[in-house]
Amino acid sequence: MLATRCSCGFERLADEEVNDHLQAIFEPDGSIGTDGRIHLEGAAQVCSCGFSAASKAELDEHFLVVFTPVDVAGRDGKRHQAIQRVTHEKPGTQSSG
Ligand SMILES: [Zn+2]
Ligand SMILES: [Zn+2]
Repeated sequence: MLATRCSCGFERLADEEVNDHLQAIFEPDGSIGTDGRIHLEGAAQVCSCGFSAASKAELDEHFLVVFTPVDVAGRDGKRHQAIQRVTHEKPGTQSSG
């Protein structure tokens, strides 16, 4: 299930998913994850750490996990956490406001 917004107020866009936003805000210089290892996307959805993903989404998920600090504070000092809607929305309906 994909999150639709971030706790900072970011809303999912047509060309930018919440995961992309989180990755951009958390990705450290040198792509060094919280585990101290370098995580770079390689060919065939394999990370430089050796992690092999079954899909692009799974690889993105991996980057998010390794780059997200414990306090979920981004490089801008704000907290960023994906929020998943609990309410069930019918497909095709848009709530305004
Ligand atoms: Zn990795
Ligand atoms: Zn955010």
